[in-house]
Amino acid sequence: MVIRIPSSKVIYSFSPGNKPVARAKPGDLVLFETLDALGGQVKSEDTPLESIDWSRVNPATGPVYVEGAEPGDTLVVDVLDIAYSDTAVILVAPGYGALYDKKIRPRARILRVDDGFLRFGSLRIKLRPMVGVIGVAPAEGEVPTGSLGEHGGNMDVSVLGRGVRVYLPVFVEGALLALGDLHLVQGDGEVCVSAAEVSGEVLVRVGLVKKCRPRFPVLDLGDRYAILAYGETLDEAAYRATEAAVEAIAKSQNLSFEDAYMLASLIVDLKINQVVDPYKGVRAEIPKDYVKIRDLLCTHKH
Ligand code: CA
Repeated sequence: MVIRIPSSKVIYSFSPGNKPVARAKPGDLVLFETLDALGGQVKSEDTPLESIDWSRVNPATGPVYVEGAEPGDTLVVDVLDIAYSDTAVILVAPGYGALYDKKIRPRARILRVDDGFLRFGSLRIKLRPMVGVIGVAPAEGEVPTGSLGEHGGNMDVSVLGRGVRVYLPVFVEGALLALGDLHLVQGDGEVCVSAAEVSGEVLVRVGLVKKCRPRFPVLDLGDRYAILAYGETLDEAAYRATEAAVEAIAKSQNLSFEDAYMLASLIVDLKINQVVDPYKGVRAEIPKDYVKIRDLLCTHKH
């Protein structure tokens, strides 16, 4: 049985106060119907961007209460499949993106899928469908779904696609999982502030690791793990990603901090997630040969 969450059930902030729209047990399959990052408000290239209701952007579908999840645990989310509409939107606007100071005109483009590729004018771009927003409720307060943090959120990680396992720290009972903001394809950095924003459906299986939680969300990418750190600046995000990676490697390999630091310099790849959201995101990718998942999930200092 699949628990289906319709796209009418959306939130605009991650919060312990959000009422769950469904309950799932570890092992259950959940299908989230998702809206695009603009809430479906841009249907043509003629839509004036001034007409967008910015309080209805970055919706995430949910939240789902996962039975047995308690603060201090880790929620496991296997992204089994991503289905998507064949029409996406991308936009630019002055004040946004990596080149925020450029005097540019606000502009939207509608991009279409054609035979497994995204058309951009006469160019064809290979699809790499991914989930931009995935997260749980923080311990307190409300975090807008356009932002990110230890709870996940708008992380915009280009490699968070089909077949990836996501580990999220649990802060409240039931975890309160929500997701949305699918991209048909996005480069690391998401430089112009948006990607190929699309509506769709995400099929996941939920699970739990009890009594252990990571400092930051972690991805299992098959041959390697990725720690998803964030910060006010790219430097701060890189510092935190590196620190978490070195601590996990030291534990897994039973090395001094100094030796683990040196080993990390040889085998860890720091990559940019995005530079355009409220916090910058950097991921530390570590080949599985050098680190155990338990040490990635249990390095958080309580
Ligand atoms: Ca996003």
